[in-house]
Amino acid sequence: MEKIQMVDLQTQHLHIKNEIDEAINNVINSAHFINGEQVSEFAESLAKYLGVKHVIPCANGTDALQIALMSLNLKPSDEIICPNFTFISSAEVIGLLNLHPVLVDVDENSFVSTLKNIEQAITVKTKVIIPVHLFGQAAEMEAIMELAKKYNLYVIEDTAQALGSEYVFKDGSRKKLGTIGTIGCTSFFPSKNLGCYGDGGALFTNDDTLFENIKMITNHGSKQKYYHKIIGCNSRLDTLQAAILNVKLKYLDSYIEKRRKAAHYYTSQLQDLEQIITPIENEYSLHTYHQYTLKIIDGNRNALKEYLNKKDIPAMIYYPVPLHKQEAFTTIARSHSTLEISEKLSEQVLSLPMHTELTKEQQDYIIKAIKDFFEENNS
Ligand SMILES: *Cc1c(COP(=O)(O)O)cnc(C)c1O
Repeated sequence: MEKIQMVDLQTQHLHIKNEIDEAINNVINSAHFINGEQVSEFAESLAKYLGVKHVIPCANGTDALQIALMSLNLKPSDEIICPNFTFISSAEVIGLLNLHPVLVDVDENSFVSTLKNIEQAITVKTKVIIPVHLFGQAAEMEAIMELAKKYNLYVIEDTAQALGSEYVFKDGSRKKLGTIGTIGCTSFFPSKNLGCYGDGGALFTNDDTLFENIKMITNHGSKQKYYHKIIGCNSRLDTLQAAILNVKLKYLDSYIEKRRKAAHYYTSQLQDLEQIITPIENEYSLHTYHQYTLKIIDGNRNALKEYLNKKDIPAMIYYPVPLHKQEAFTTIARSHSTLEISEKLSEQVLSLPMHTELTKEQQDYIIKAIKDFFEENNS
């Protein structure tokens, strides 16, 4: 059996090596390393895949979130609602722009912000809601959009972990995540659903004015070379990364299928263990399992992690510290409700190896190790 990895990017690469080599060589031969034609080609293909009018590539997912906020003409001290249980990026860029993150608690089963908590957090200063589609599962977008309309708020979707996931509306229609809010943001960090071979990110919008504004911000606040209308930044997707993404985008749906299949196999084998809770799929969400995250409810999460690690099974805690407990946020973060669910989750969650190359043999080894652990612990 191949050594089990949290994410196996080497094997994934071997399947597409020839195509990638050719794509990379084309860029090197052209020497158009910045803004080469592969970048606009990728933006167009991704827009088509997502069913969105505009895709603006940028340097990474954190930049995408920052640029999205910069494009909305916010004022210092405006409040931005974001989940308390997630990766730091969304709250970090809010702080960086002198805005206030208002942290809301999440649902204990689906790990995404609950509508009730979001509505409770709205004040006269609130300008934006940032739903994070955590682990590949959709936040409650239809209701969030209704809320945003009622209170006149923008919505920036953090789709870094959920590219390709879909939202199923009450009328049965579907949209790709990231295309429902005012702006969608994503990351092409290597381990993400669609990963490049370095850093990369993108923003999506259906709004023509925002599209122009976002493009200008990513390019030093400039529409015409050496004439700068506003303070922007330098955030571009390298041509090499775009060329790689052009190859990998064709495989995204098959990658998602492999993730879902592996996740469903884990769940079928683990759901009867009384010490753990397997991930749920919200009925309105096509889950893409960026992470396969268990809750260990008998208090033995850390012991299980160590046990698995000793058997050469990697397992990770996403996330060990909720944002309100992070030193960086002690002075700027606000909240209007308790954050006890995120605190509890940070002590219960454990993510298992999840990627496109997991074999049944590897999964069976992992599943057996988990079962053995609980048997040994109970006797
Ligand atoms: C990975 C990630 C980001 C940031 O992406 P980078 O490309 O690493 O900057 C933002 N939000 C979430 C939820 C993520 O998982």
